[in-house]
Amino acid sequence: MTIDDAPRDALRGGPRELLRWVATGAAVSRADLSRLSGLSPSTVSQRVEALISQGLLEEAGAGRSRGGRRPRQLAVPTGGAVVGAIDLGAHHARVGVLDLSGRVVQARTLPVRIEDGPEAVLGALLAEVATLVSSDPTAGGGAVAGGSTGGALRGVGIGIPGPVQHSTGRIVSPSRMPGWNGFDVAAFCAGRVDVPVIVDNDANLMALGAHRTAHSELDHAVYIKAGTGIGSGVISSGRLHRGAQGSAGDISHCRVVADPAPPCTCGNAGCLEAVASGAALVTALREQGVPVSDLTGVIRLIDDGDRQATALARQAGRAVGEILAVVVNFFNPQVVAIGGRLADCEPLLASMRATLYERCLPLATQTLLIERVAAGQDLGITGAAHLVIDHVVAGA
Ligand SMILES: [Zn+2]
Repeated sequence: MTIDDAPRDALRGGPRELLRWVATGAAVSRADLSRLSGLSPSTVSQRVEALISQGLLEEAGAGRSRGGRRPRQLAVPTGGAVVGAIDLGAHHARVGVLDLSGRVVQARTLPVRIEDGPEAVLGALLAEVATLVSSDPTAGGGAVAGGSTGGALRGVGIGIPGPVQHSTGRIVSPSRMPGWNGFDVAAFCAGRVDVPVIVDNDANLMALGAHRTAHSELDHAVYIKAGTGIGSGVISSGRLHRGAQGSAGDISHCRVVADPAPPCTCGNAGCLEAVASGAALVTALREQGVPVSDLTGVIRLIDDGDRQATALARQAGRAVGEILAVVVNFFNPQVVAIGGRLADCEPLLASMRATLYERCLPLATQTLLIERVAAGQDLGITGAAHLVIDHVVAGA
């Protein structure tokens, strides 16, 4: 596989990358960082000192010496809950605290009623972050929602299941979030938290979490999140690509071939979300007289080999594959990975894959990896934590 790593060279040796090399174990000393980055030892030392003074790196013990003084080993401080993360879904939210290496220290899943509105839902979730931080003996207190200000918490990352204008942290025309349109999540949270709050959509968080966890060596990747809604996150030249407003990767209202074309919440008909999302499958099955109440019920029917549910899952997979083929031809990623609750749905995956191969240029699919995103409910909060860590490092 040929990796065009020229764009990455621009980032090579930046504080984020130095920190990442230490966090992933690629480097344990200043000498390693100098070798990996191609930077002079004095430049590396300067950057490392800045990271140490910010508490983002620490020196631990002595490394192996090749004669002379033993090099001091570098490490990312681990164990303390220093980043808060919230991954909000349609019915549940995953809330966690993570350390600076992006490792989950504590996390829990809470039921959520989106229709209760943003103040109630976000207020409760921020309070939960405060509880997790204050219950972590190594964290030294929190700085959230009236908690003590021990200074341990460095920021909170929040994922929203709808379009987020990245520059402002405002939600814009979400499909299934009554009362949330135009809500300024960042401003609301800033009034309750005295650390930076970074807001993004849930597909971007999953993409960032999956990329940092499983594909950090790949520069170009597309991650589809297929759950109640459907969206995607794009990694370009190793970084999350948001576009001008933050809507890059939002494939939910791309039109697919469907006859009849089901009406979509956006006012159009035949959108990917109206054909292939979990919510669409629930609606379509109900219209066929199948008494199913939620996505869990749909997945159970598909697992049981139910004929109607399986046919709908295949149709959904074709629709996702159709849109993804355009994305792959246009963007030429190294990997396409699908996550979310529908990712385990075999008929959907099989027809997505077949459509993708059928519709893509051979050059685009020659070495393309098509995968499931590694299972686990913590990719969203891991991505949220990395957003915060990147922000903290950028300011270091
Ligand atoms: Zn639509």
